[in-house]
Amino acid sequence: MKFLEANLARVFICRLDYESDLLESIRRFAEEKGINAAVFSALGALKNASLAFYDQKTKKYVKEKISRPLELLSCIGNIAKIDGKTVVHAHIVVSDSEGRAYGGHLDVETIIFSCELFLTELRGINLKRKYDKTTGLNLFMFE
Ligand code: ZN
Repeated sequence: MKFLEANLARVFICRLDYESDLLESIRRFAEEKGINAAVFSALGALKNASLAFYDQKTKKYVKEKISRPLELLSCIGNIAKIDGKTVVHAHIVVSDSEGRAYGGHLDVETIIFSCELFLTELRGINLKRKYDKTTGLNLFMFE
């Protein structure tokens, strides 16, 4: 296992905007605040969700859209950089009106009904991602 040791910095408590895109809202906020590395969690409700499942054989994301109101039971993620660009990586668990749960990798076009975000900035590290041939994913890079 490779690791970095970071210090906790600013903590942001946010109410995300109605009908905004969950992934894009977090990414834009991080850019506006000059955040290079962070961890976050969120909960609320969604108008719809776009999830993805990473197929380990084809090394491609298989996307699934759920086009109805959902509870956002849990969203956890982190923020890092790829070639200087801000990258938000998050996974979510949602539930429908009958309590059925669905989960996956958070994709764009997941639209917020309401959302509470707690975001903790990490300082003292340079958290970067880099393409990894073995998995086909952009994994944390440790120099
Ligand atoms: Zn993922």
